[in-house]
Amino acid sequence: MAKRRLIYKGRSKDIYEGLEPGTLVQHFKDDATAFNNKKRGTITGKGVINNRISELLMTRLQEIGVPTHFVRRLNMREQLIREVEIIPIEVVVRNVVAGSIVERLGIKEGTALPRSIVEYYWKNESLGNPLVSEEHITAFGWAVPQDIDDMLALALRINDFLTGLFFGVGLRLVDFKVEFGRFYDENGDMRIILADEISPDSCRLWDVNTNEKLDKDRFRQDLGGAAQAYQEVARRLGVLPESGDTAGPRAVQ
Ligand code: C5P
Repeated sequence: MAKRRLIYKGRSKDIYEGLEPGTLVQHFKDDATAFNNKKRGTITGKGVINNRISELLMTRLQEIGVPTHFVRRLNMREQLIREVEIIPIEVVVRNVVAGSIVERLGIKEGTALPRSIVEYYWKNESLGNPLVSEEHITAFGWAVPQDIDDMLALALRINDFLTGLFFGVGLRLVDFKVEFGRFYDENGDMRIILADEISPDSCRLWDVNTNEKLDKDRFRQDLGGAAQAYQEVARRLGVLPESGDTAGPRAVQ
C-alpha cells in the first residue's frame, strides 16, 4: 500500500495529504499533553471520540452558517478537511472563570463572568503560547484588522450556539479555544473559516447540576476518569461510537 504523505505531526492530531486537491486528512490520536507539553499521557479512546464530537459540532455550526474546514468523517479516527492557511492565533472564549485566568488574575474558579471574554494567544509553543492583544496581532502581521473582526464575530457566534447546544445535554460551556484559517476559493477569494477541532480537549465542560469536570482538566489536574468523561460527553451528545469500542483501528500509512 502506498504511504500517505504526513504534512504535520501534532500533539493530539496528525495531518496527512488529502484524497482530493485542496483537502487534508486530520487524524485524531489518544495522546494528551498539557502545560505546554510538560505533562504527557494517553486518554484511551480520546481520538475516536474527539473525531465524532468535532464532526457533530462542526456540522451543526455549518448548518447555522458558520463556515468550517470540515468536509466529512472518513473513519473512526480521521476526517477530511479543507486545506487552509492557519492564522497563528488561538482564540479563547470564556463564560466562567477557570484555568489560566485563575492564576493570571487571581479570580476564583467558577465565578460567572458578566459577559463573555475573548482572548488571543499567539501560537508559539517555544514561548508557551503567550497572551497577546489586537495591537500585537496587527503590528507583527499575524492577521489584519478585518481578520480579527471576522474571528471575533465567529467566536462569539460559536459561543452562543455551543452554549445552548451543551446546556441542552446538561453541560456548562465554561470556556473553549478555536482556531481559524484563510480559505481561498476557486476564484481566489479569501474568507476566514473555523479550523482545527472542537472537543473536550479544547473546551471546559462542567455538569450543570454537579459541576463535575468532563473535559481535559481531568487529565491536567490528575482527577482520574478522563476517558470516561470524554465518553460521557459523547454519550450525551448522542455520538458515542456503537458498542462503546473507542480503541478503533490504528492509522494506516
Ligand atoms: O488554559 P486556559 O484557561 O487559557 O484555556 C482556556 C481554554 O482553551 C480551555 O478550554 C482549554 O482547554 C483551551 N486551550 C486549548 N489549547 C491550548 C490552550 C487552551 O484547547 N493550547
